[in-house]
Amino acid sequence: MKRASIPDLEQAIRTVPDFPKSGIQFKDITPVLADGHLFSSVIDHLLDGIQPDSIDLIVGIDARGFILGAAAAGRLGVGFIPIRKKGKLPWTTIEQNYDLEYGTNTMAIHTDAIQSGQRVLLIDDLLATGGTAAAALALVRQLGATVVGVRFLIELTFLEGRKHLGAHDIRSLISY
Ligand code: AMP
Repeated sequence: MKRASIPDLEQAIRTVPDFPKSGIQFKDITPVLADGHLFSSVIDHLLDGIQPDSIDLIVGIDARGFILGAAAAGRLGVGFIPIRKKGKLPWTTIEQNYDLEYGTNTMAIHTDAIQSGQRVLLIDDLLATGGTAAAALALVRQLGATVVGVRFLIELTFLEGRKHLGAHDIRSLISY
């Protein structure tokens, strides 16, 4: 079947005002995930230009990055590595703090998740201020990974999160 277009995907994303708090326009991707054709097409689009033998691992960010990242890893037949909020991973971890609008958050990765020199593609659902993805990149770099690319389904361009991600091949499918 022909893949769904970017406008088809955009139409299925639901914007929920004032969730989880006042002033946030939450981009709800569950209607995309619930539709097999749209979900599969998102993975096609995210992997555009990625040769199956050009990456060793997909790294997904807690929590919606797990859904997209794991599906993409399954598509390519490569491993999947989770970056999780602090305190969730059971084995030895390294951690990275990052700033939120109010306060800070901490992301973690297992120390043995990536071998030095492995080529990774980082995936999350949405790029906003860039703090989360910047922390994830710091973690994979600390483990010696080569970052082949960074992919998002959605980018809130007005927040200029890209500025915090360095000189990587960064692409998003839908921009607001
Ligand atoms: P940031 O660190 O500001 O780039 O935020 C990105 C992370 O927060 C991603 O993992 C997103 O899932 C989540 N996020 C931030 N803003 C939104 C939003 N408006 N709608 C849905 N998820 C969001």
